[in-house]
Amino acid sequence: SKATSAVDVLVVGGGIGGLAAAVALTQQGLRVRVLERAAEFGEVGAGLQIAPNCTRILDQWGLLDEVKSLGVLPRNIVMKDAVDGSELTRLDLAATEARYGYPYMVIHRSDLHGTLLRAARAVGVDLVTNVAVSGYEQTEGGAAVVHAEGREEAPVVIAADGLHSVARPLISDDEPVSSSYVAYRGAVPIDQVAANDVSTDDVVVYVGPQRHFVQYALRGGEMFNQVAVFESPKALAGEEDWGTPDELDDAFAGSCEQVTKGLPLMWRDRWWRMFDRDPILNWVTGRVALLGDAAHPPLQYLAQGAVMAIEDAWVLSEHVGRQLAAGRSVAELDWDGVLSAYDAVRPEHCRRVLTTARAWGELWHVDGEARVWRNAVLRERSVDDYSYVDWLYGPTALTPDEEADMFVPESQRQAAATSV
Ligand code: FAD
Repeated sequence: SKATSAVDVLVVGGGIGGLAAAVALTQQGLRVRVLERAAEFGEVGAGLQIAPNCTRILDQWGLLDEVKSLGVLPRNIVMKDAVDGSELTRLDLAATEARYGYPYMVIHRSDLHGTLLRAARAVGVDLVTNVAVSGYEQTEGGAAVVHAEGREEAPVVIAADGLHSVARPLISDDEPVSSSYVAYRGAVPIDQVAANDVSTDDVVVYVGPQRHFVQYALRGGEMFNQVAVFESPKALAGEEDWGTPDELDDAFAGSCEQVTKGLPLMWRDRWWRMFDRDPILNWVTGRVALLGDAAHPPLQYLAQGAVMAIEDAWVLSEHVGRQLAAGRSVAELDWDGVLSAYDAVRPEHCRRVLTTARAWGELWHVDGEARVWRNAVLRERSVDDYSYVDWLYGPTALTPDEEADMFVPESQRQAAATSV
């Protein structure tokens, strides 16, 4: 069943990124085959925030109504101090939707992944499980993947194989970078938090010294999602066994009541150590292109990891669509042109997201006078000031020129002009 078949695109990895690419390219009329290592397609974990730059794309793919029916549209994102519980700043999400034209939502990971999987089946993506790709080769006019049962070729191979990508070493010898932070998650039926004085209408982020805590309702308000993240002293000391539940309790001692009440509801049998990678500015070699976390795994502070993967898929498929609209047939596609257009615009955007996420996370976790100063600055922020998020939540750029133009505040544009 895994013999070479006639496909236009091979996608390695059936996570959110790989499935998004498969759906988008199939909607353009291409034949796409997805090779997934796991025995089943699925997602572990809990909630996911998806910003307007993602819901805009899901709408174009015809998936936003389904995603809306499964997710939650919170009223606000509220940032609070994790020690004293006071509010620091907020984003009004109704106003945010009005500004960008699309909602900021939260959804269970498995619901977003499931929506993409159903869409992939509906459009006829060839979905294959139990295939772990171990190598890549360039071929005459395409590329090939190698796995236990042989070798398959296609004009192009999209490697969406995550943080530990097998394809990335073709391009870069970098390794995942440990942040020494670890995440605990827990999604519970909403009645379990009824006595906890939580806001079920908002995404609330408590930021504090070496730790933060996130809360929001999921699944149409039936479930409540919490994420507890902290810096592990054992990781800093170079110990192997880091991020354990005893460290969780120590890290959150001295937090406000809303946070300490939430801690007993975290899943304690598994945790996620937080890694990212340094940005790389080229994701393409020959006819193999990286996509999603394989290309740009971020720290999660801007909540744009899955969103960037979906943007990657959209940009790739739109460049295919432009060639088809210009009169080429699928067989005549200029893949080198598509891949270089993709590589010209996505790495720089994602570089900025990765480095900004690191800086934003550092600001969440400061202590002492830095914390006092941070709180003062955040309290000063006007709630209708979008200058820090326009570049993220505005429409996804297809070219570097569009990226430069898109939603850049006038002050920054002038500064850029004078520095030339
Ligand atoms: P993955 O999900 O890692 O998928 C890779 C797939 O490839 C897997 O199915 C894997 O089995 C398969 N695979 C791997 N190797 C092979 C191989 N050799 N052969 C075949 N198949 C293979 N993002 C947001 O947008 N919003 C958020 O709010 C958000 N919050 C987050 C919170 C936390 C705590 C964390 C850790 C991440 C968060 N993210 C968030 C990031 C987001 O989860 C990831 O960026 C996203 O899931 C990456 O998707 P992907 O498809 O690129 O990679």
